[in-house]
Amino acid sequence: MAAAEVEGLGYSEEAPSHGHSFVKKTFTRPTNCHQCAEYIWGLVSQGFFCEVCNFLVHEKCIKTILIPCVSLAASCVENPVAHCLSEEKSIKGKFCNVCRKKIHEAPGLHCEVCDYFIHDYCQEFAVPNCVDGATYDPWSQLHTITTHHNNREGNLPAHSKCFKCKKACWSPDCLTGMRCCWCGLTAHSSCVTSLAKESLNCSFGKLEPIFLPPHAVSIPRTQISQVNFIGLKSKENLPHHMLYRTEEARALAVSDDWSSTGGVEASKELEETMHLVIKTRDEKRKEKSTKEKEKETEEELIKVFDGYNSLRKRLFRTITVNKYCTKEELLAAAMKAFVVSQDSKNFYLLDVYADCDSEREVEIQDPYPVQSLVRKEGRRPAILLGLRDSENDSGIIKVWARKLQVGQTKIVLTVNASTTTEQVIEQALTDFGLEDNPDLYELVKVTLDCGRVTETVLNREDIPWEVLKRRGFESVRLMELTRFYLQLLEDPHGPDVALFVGNLPQNLSHKNYETILLDCLDPESKFSSLGPIYYEYGSMVITFDNSTSAIAAYEQLQGRVYEDKKLMVIMLPTLEPEMIPSKTVPLLVFVNVKSGGCQGLQLISSFRKLLNPYQVFDLSNGGPLPGLYVFRKIVKYRILVCGGDGTIGWVLQCLDNVGQDSQCSNPPCAIVPLGTGNDLARVLRWGSGYSGDEDPLSLLRDVIEAEEIRLDRWTVVFRPLTDEGAVLDGGKAPVVSAQTNENNAQIFVMNNYFGLGLDADLCLDFHNAREEKPEKFNSRNYNKGVYVKVSLRKMVGRKMCKDLHKVLKLEVDGVNVELPPIEGIIILNIMSWGSGANPWGPEKDDRFSKPNHWDGNLEVVGVTGMVHMGQIQSGLRSAVRIAQGSHIKIHMTREIPVQVDGEPWIQPAGDIVVLKSALKATMLKKQKYKVKRRNTAPPTNLPTTPIRAGSTPIPQVPQSAPYISRSHHLGGGPGTSTVSSSAPPTAGPSGSVPPSTSPPLNLADLCDSPTHATAV
Ligand SMILES: [Zn+2]
Ligand SMILES: [Zn+2]
Ligand SMILES: [Zn+2]
Ligand SMILES: [Zn+2]
Ligand SMILES: [Zn+2]
Ligand SMILES: [Zn+2]
Repeated sequence: MAAAEVEGLGYSEEAPSHGHSFVKKTFTRPTNCHQCAEYIWGLVSQGFFCEVCNFLVHEKCIKTILIPCVSLAASCVENPVAHCLSEEKSIKGKFCNVCRKKIHEAPGLHCEVCDYFIHDYCQEFAVPNCVDGATYDPWSQLHTITTHHNNREGNLPAHSKCFKCKKACWSPDCLTGMRCCWCGLTAHSSCVTSLAKESLNCSFGKLEPIFLPPHAVSIPRTQISQVNFIGLKSKENLPHHMLYRTEEARALAVSDDWSSTGGVEASKELEETMHLVIKTRDEKRKEKSTKEKEKETEEELIKVFDGYNSLRKRLFRTITVNKYCTKEELLAAAMKAFVVSQDSKNFYLLDVYADCDSEREVEIQDPYPVQSLVRKEGRRPAILLGLRDSENDSGIIKVWARKLQVGQTKIVLTVNASTTTEQVIEQALTDFGLEDNPDLYELVKVTLDCGRVTETVLNREDIPWEVLKRRGFESVRLMELTRFYLQLLEDPHGPDVALFVGNLPQNLSHKNYETILLDCLDPESKFSSLGPIYYEYGSMVITFDNSTSAIAAYEQLQGRVYEDKKLMVIMLPTLEPEMIPSKTVPLLVFVNVKSGGCQGLQLISSFRKLLNPYQVFDLSNGGPLPGLYVFRKIVKYRILVCGGDGTIGWVLQCLDNVGQDSQCSNPPCAIVPLGTGNDLARVLRWGSGYSGDEDPLSLLRDVIEAEEIRLDRWTVVFRPLTDEGAVLDGGKAPVVSAQTNENNAQIFVMNNYFGLGLDADLCLDFHNAREEKPEKFNSRNYNKGVYVKVSLRKMVGRKMCKDLHKVLKLEVDGVNVELPPIEGIIILNIMSWGSGANPWGPEKDDRFSKPNHWDGNLEVVGVTGMVHMGQIQSGLRSAVRIAQGSHIKIHMTREIPVQVDGEPWIQPAGDIVVLKSALKATMLKKQKYKVKRRNTAPPTNLPTTPIRAGSTPIPQVPQSAPYISRSHHLGGGPGTSTVSSSAPPTAGPSGSVPPSTSPPLNLADLCDSPTHATAV
């Protein structure tokens, strides 16, 4: 077979054969061939069936099989990558990729990043063939790189057609067909291996324009699996036995589904011991007839256990042998069942049912070993295959080349009990044809167990054969699943390995942070640099000059608690900008998994599969900063934010923070609206809220087609009067400021709207209700209900906003504006407010220009009362148009509720100024008319609208890193961050943090729409 053919399956070209144990079988009902998906017709013995993995095939299809049997698959995987298995849950209607049987609402696991489904109890045989989203190779150049399809077998979407023969290649009845998780190409297993050369390479299909190519992502060589980089909360770290409720359940489950023919018997045996089953007469008769049949032939079925390990777990294979075979033949058959490649002299056989009166069990011996096996009533004879301890001093080891410039990827070396690792390295270098200094290389042991990939670097004096033998005493199969890698001592992924650390106190000094971190770390895992530091979030990036110390630091920091808060540590991948094709504008995806019930979780799972998992970030894991840091060297990229308006504000705010460190200062943002509100999403045509109906792939295609548009942003400056100013800071400001109240201003960035009076008061009640019972605010409908109730209460309740026009003075662009009798003012940047209402209204008016969110103008409207407000929200009336302008000044003579982008509080009397912010945002607006998509070639050039350089006002925001403190004065929610433009807090020791600073909640908690303010 040609190497290229096998590459299509992700298995090594070394795979000697498929390894299935086929037996002839008569099917009583129409059954699909797993290889070609067609029905197996005929009356008797129409097809073949693998006793180990339940693979069903036509006789004619056997010779084309390249999918290795599950017993062999793990050792054939070319590049083992552990799956990111999800929490155990009930899976239905999918086929298990291990035992190939349907998962009938049984506890199952699925991979978060590829289409891999398995029974909970099939984990033992999981094959570590997950996608590799980080394949950067420092010796390859962009134009020489090809990416193979990322094929997974079975569970194809209904009506999938084969790419090659155009016939249906899916089946609702069995595991069949192949699908590339990335480009979606589907084909028969029989066709995928014979695809034309050019079709073997994956170009990520329709998502190519936004797909982050794996060859541009580099992660350090580590013993830590990709789960930690992706920030996935999975069961990765659970001990294996935790997966089973009881040992009995496990034993029953595994043998039932795993050993197929023998499994039935095993479970029966177990049930008998558990006194669960009384055999029916029918069953007994059946048993008798098979027994009789066996008697007629010269053959006998024997169970083979692989070491004591599998005896305990009741895992066995059955073999069929001649009754008069020799010990050698019996041993060969047993070894074949476990696909053992070592020399047979290293193994022995035991009779499982033999009485052990003597201390040592007796090895099975000639003559007629089968005849002399002990038989137990109703059970097959059973033998145990073991690895010899003594007189076992040589064997073979498999050595693979990892990221080395060699033609051949794998060699087999004969070693003995005195061959050291040093000698293996030398021999391997010669065999690979590398004339290099052995001191520059190391040998790594890689074990593949239960789908996990574990690596250990061997010391130069270690004896690889002994290392392998130790594994063999546990299980011969596990020994076969152990391989060695030859790799360069120096990680070719470069010296800079970065960790993101969060959940530290905010606004400490550089020195403070450094001290805190160094206190947590051993001297040998010290970082080489600290920064950037995101002071206002209490988070930072630390960089190491080698991956070993980075991983040590990662482990030491994880679970560490500082000032009652658990530190957050994330391993960051490195992106290599020169490896991204010029036509690709990678998409950075942020999902607020806490928004909109469970929709965020479903979306993140879909996006991780559709895209490179390294380009999708969960905001509950460190917020937007880790993702923005990872993308900082990318010159051009786009962002997709899945969440409410608050989440978008949060991402824009973080973009403002990282701006100077990033190559791309204004990556355009698209939105998948989650939760309630979503006024910004509505204006940009992304809809009122994702319902879960739309296919995530088409959401991504909308992002590809979306056009860039500018979003004006505004600075809102609050300056309380002198006496209230004291109230405002009432002991909460971190520093005793000698400045006048003139500098006690609070500055916010406003993206959507700013309300005073009635509108803000409603928002505040809603906010407070939510603070009381946050768990109830998950569903969009419940949120709506609360709004209505709050509104009703307002109508009969207190009249805080009565005669607002009498306590306010409004000045727009330097002109005093006479206010009509109103109870609320709304200042609009976007033409959507209160979940889709348009207070400005559609009418033409000669006094005003048509409003939009990029003209540099704000619209000021008034609300006369509760009834009027209700009418605006239901679209019956518009608000009272008051003014349009770009510089708004308000003077209030008493305290009034205010809200900025849905984040409300009560503001004391004073001045408010709204002026254009120097911060820019580019948004993506969904195309109005959906382009007909079927059969269109993937777009290769993205529409790019150059952003007009608008007139930029004098920046009002201090350009130096602002000092942010959390304030919760006067009803401001805990989500309200404020900037004090007064003297920055002198960077003191952590003890000088104001005692009133509430423990910052996880920002994701706060950001569920509709209430979250954006502060600079
Ligand atoms: Zn077939
Ligand atoms: Zn098989
Ligand atoms: Zn299974
Ligand atoms: Zn996977
Ligand atoms: Zn593909
Ligand atoms: Zn086909």
